[in-house]
Amino acid sequence: MSKKIIITIDGWSSCGKSTLAKQLAKKLGYVYVDSGAMYRAITLYFLRNHVDWTDKKEVNAALKEIHLDFRPNEQTSASEMYLNDENVEYVIRDLVIAEKVSDIAAIKEVRTFAVAQQQKMGTKKGVVMDGRDIGTVVFPKAELKIFMTADNAVRVERRFKEMYEKNPNVTIEEVKSNLEMRDYIDSHREVSPLKKADDALVLDNTNLTPAEQLNKALSWVKEKIKTK
Ligand code: C5P
Repeated sequence: MSKKIIITIDGWSSCGKSTLAKQLAKKLGYVYVDSGAMYRAITLYFLRNHVDWTDKKEVNAALKEIHLDFRPNEQTSASEMYLNDENVEYVIRDLVIAEKVSDIAAIKEVRTFAVAQQQKMGTKKGVVMDGRDIGTVVFPKAELKIFMTADNAVRVERRFKEMYEKNPNVTIEEVKSNLEMRDYIDSHREVSPLKKADDALVLDNTNLTPAEQLNKALSWVKEKIKTK
């Protein structure tokens, strides 16, 4: 598979987008970009600095102070999110961030800021990027677009397990209501709402093992590289 393409993975919260994106990137030797981490890092900055995000001037001034980049972890070589040279990969996964991120990601100026950086990361192709608007807005011409979905109960269970490992005080109800709230805001916002691109292929992984989902996606990659 020598020809490099852009692979976009969009879909609902916690339906396994990042797992698939990482699997594909590893298998194909592509760069993985977690676009959600960027919105989470911006949210962290806004919360820490008490930015009033209903005020456009404050938002624009804050964005000027934000530098985001992904750097590889020296031990695992997984890419991690840095906010102004600080590794924030762990802290941005907190429920406090998850509770506000969709409001902040709905702001036009925030999206323009993040999307410009995401598009730059795709100029050399060989990228797998996951998020909510990657196939519709960031890379509308991507060669392979995947729209992921999974049953609600399965998604809640998966995210709960992940969060419980970090914080045993978290409850399944909190996780469920956070996922429902984010999905609602993400799919109803005015700017770049979450929706399936017309040419995206749907992958429902409710009953798929990680190996099965990877094989399915790899078969699509092969097809797209052939027909490119
Ligand atoms: O992917 P993740 O769940 O970490 O994303 C966190 C939040 O960031 C989403 O709920 C959504 O509000 C926002 N997001 C977005 N557009 C993207 C990626 C994430 O609006 N491309």
